[in-house]
Amino acid sequence: MHDFHLHLARLSNPESIADELNRRGYHYVDVGCEPWEWAKVRDLKRAEVNCTENRAEKNRAAYGIHPMIAEKVTEEDFATLRKFLESDTDAQVGEAGLDRRFPGYEPGGVQETVFRRQAELALELGRDLQIHCVGDYMRIVKVLREAGFKTSPHDNSTATVNAPRPVFHRFGGDISAVRAGIELGALFSLHADSFRKKSTAAAIPLIPADSVRFETDADESYSERLAGTGCAPTAIEIAEALIRDLGDVQRLYELAIKGA
Ligand SMILES: [Zn+2]
Repeated sequence: MHDFHLHLARLSNPESIADELNRRGYHYVDVGCEPWEWAKVRDLKRAEVNCTENRAEKNRAAYGIHPMIAEKVTEEDFATLRKFLESDTDAQVGEAGLDRRFPGYEPGGVQETVFRRQAELALELGRDLQIHCVGDYMRIVKVLREAGFKTSPHDNSTATVNAPRPVFHRFGGDISAVRAGIELGALFSLHADSFRKKSTAAAIPLIPADSVRFETDADESYSERLAGTGCAPTAIEIAEALIRDLGDVQRLYELAIKGA
């Protein structure tokens, strides 16, 4: 199994969870979206065991600045971000993007500036870019084009880290976002929530199968939900819940393409 977007550093007892996941052959992209997480994400990196899948399925880190903190980011943070990315050539950039729930979302606002800089960094370093979008996907596409992401022939089977791709994480766009994303050679990372919105559910079957990924986006709220009113979940409980939830996303996708 491969979880294309989760936040290990935000879970309780992440070292044990990383070990449990690895033992079960569950691989992932571990995303650090605030400066305090970056060192943790780096230290949590595990070489995968029993990885029979291709290179695309290996454990990776992602380092980025989430739009929720765009307003607070400093030049020093950007310099540190670059260092983390340069020290790990397998790492992706992100998550970065736009979110209408946080300050600086307006066109030309600070969220756009912070996103654009990370898009440029992804291109410069030749890395995939994990994109967070709660709002207007067409604005994301516009920034990507302006930053230099090019229309690329659809071929994700041979893609390497040297051919940077936009990754629409927790995809929630409609048919026009799918079309624009395909043009840019994007990957679409699907979450259980991707199937809740009618316009997204209708667009999912149009995504080329080799551009589809699956994710849990598990963060601190994931452990909290599992805990309910009882005590904190163990690493084993969290690992098993992730496997179950990622499997559910894959089944939702299979149903969606069968029904289309
Ligand atoms: Zn996330």
